[in-house]
Order: sequence, then structure tokens, then C-alpha cells
Amino acid sequence: MSKLDGKVAVVTGASKGIGAGIAKSLAANGAAVVVNYASSKAGADAVVEAIIAAGGKAIAVQADVSKAEQAQDLIEAAVKQFGRLDVLVNNSGIYEFASIEEITEQHYRRLFDVNVLGVLLATQAAAKHLGEAGSIINISSAITHVHTPTAAVYAGTKGALNAISGVLANELAPRRIRVNVVSPGFVVTEGTHAAGVVGSDMEAGLVAQTPLGRAGQPDDIAGVVAFLASDEARWLTGEVITASGGIR
Ligand code: NAP
Repeated sequence: MSKLDGKVAVVTGASKGIGAGIAKSLAANGAAVVVNYASSKAGADAVVEAIIAAGGKAIAVQADVSKAEQAQDLIEAAVKQFGRLDVLVNNSGIYEFASIEEITEQHYRRLFDVNVLGVLLATQAAAKHLGEAGSIINISSAITHVHTPTAAVYAGTKGALNAISGVLANELAPRRIRVNVVSPGFVVTEGTHAAGVVGSDMEAGLVAQTPLGRAGQPDDIAGVVAFLASDEARWLTGEVITASGGIR
């Protein structure tokens, strides 16, 4: 008996990076998983194939979570395919760095649309289906307290997400739906490669400040999410767990 047997999970932004690691971990623990992607169909299909090859259940579903109708369709696809919904992992997120002089309206709106509005829309759609013992896990960032220069807007989205998660933990508690946050430190992913962080001075500085002395990997985050999704975490709601090798 695995800790997520019989549960159905949606992981947003699971075509690569941390989301792909979370999707594989939830499936390895027995959940049927919906692997959401925005544009990387090949990446999402590869995650689904890996899960099925390991004996698990998964489907890939395209949806831009910052669009209400698409977020709704994503959740409906999960319920249609697997008959229920128990876990939502709001992992989709984008990061771009800009100094105060470089910040534009477009930069602000792009990040807030996906990192904040996308979480609200997916959660709104999921809340209709989550029953007692439902679990929502929001992927924030340790950047809210590491305060990396040029991350004002990105850190702002994640600070907003932490506040929203606390509110929703209280709002959904009467229905016994738990809402928790995992805040990763620096993790090597496709996204941090594309943003030029991997191999940069920023990475070197972050690793130097990390007590456990290395960069994070998606699996370092995935196990924490699988725990929060499970009934082992039944007494935890409104928590922010920093999974960062100790960087604060
Ligand atoms: P990543 O490698 O860039 O992957 C991002 C994922 O989000 C992709 O699957 C992407 O889908 C999806 N996505 C982007 N926009 C979307 C949208 N509008 N609708 C649905 N999905 C969308 O990112 P990552 O590094 O794994 O980061 C994942 C999460 O962890 C983010 O919330 C990030 O802020 C957070 N985080 C990351 C780090 C780090 O160091 N990596 C640290 C702290 C927190 P497509 O590929 O299909 O576009």
C-alpha cells in the first residue's frame, strides 16, 4: 500500500523541471496524475510515458492556467478521466529578473498572471471537486526571504502566493481541504537553465549561502510535496515549508 493509492492529482506545469519531478513522485506513491503543460507537449508526453513505464497512471493535458476557461477545462479533464480529484499542486510559474530601472508593465503582468492569477483560477476550479482530505500544495520560493536583487516582481508574486495560501487554508478548512506551501531554494531545472541562472554568479552566490552546500534538484522538492499530499500530513494546513538546503 503506497501513501497516495487511490488518489487523483493535478500538477500544473509538469512538462519539465520541478513539476515533472513532482508528477513522477506522486505517481510513484500511487496517485493517478494529470500532467499539465502550457506549450511543451513533448515534455509532458515524456513525463506521462515515464510514469506509465513505471507502472503508474497519467495523462497529459494542455492548459494555460492564467486563462479561466482553460484552468476549468484542466480540472474537468482530470475528473472526467479519473473520476475524482484529491490533490492540486500549483507549480506552474515563470521567473524573469529585472532591476528597478528595467521593470515594465508587461514584465509585471506576465509574472502576476501566471504565478498568482493562475493559482487562483486553478484552485477555484479544483475546489468544486476536492472532497474531505483534499490537499492543495502551492509552489512558492525561498526568494521571499532571500531577497535576491533584480527579483522584485518575481518575489512579489511569491509573497502574494504565500499570503493567498494562508487565507485559503482558513477558508477551505471547514471543508477539511488543506492548503500548504513549499518554498524551494535554487533548483537546477530547464527553467533556471533558460533564465541563465545555472552557471552564473547568481547560482554561485546562492550555493555559497546554502548550508547543505549544493544546488537543489527537482527530487529534493518532490518528496516534500508527496508528503503534504498524503494523509501523513493530515494535521498540517497553512504551513510554508522551505525546502532549500537551509538557505534563509
Ligand atoms: P520550468 O523548468 O521553467 O518549468 C515551468 C513549468 O511551468 C513548465 O512546465 C511550463 O509549461 C509551466 N508553465 C509556464 N507557464 C504556464 C502557464 N501559463 N500555464 C500552465 N503551465 C505553465 O520551472 P521550474 O524551475 O521547474 O519552476 C517550477 C516552479 O517552482 C515555479 O513556480 C517556480 O517559480 C518555482 N521555483 C523554482 C525554483 C528554481 O530554482 N527552479 C526555485 C524556487 C521556486 P511549458 O513548458 O509547457 O511552457
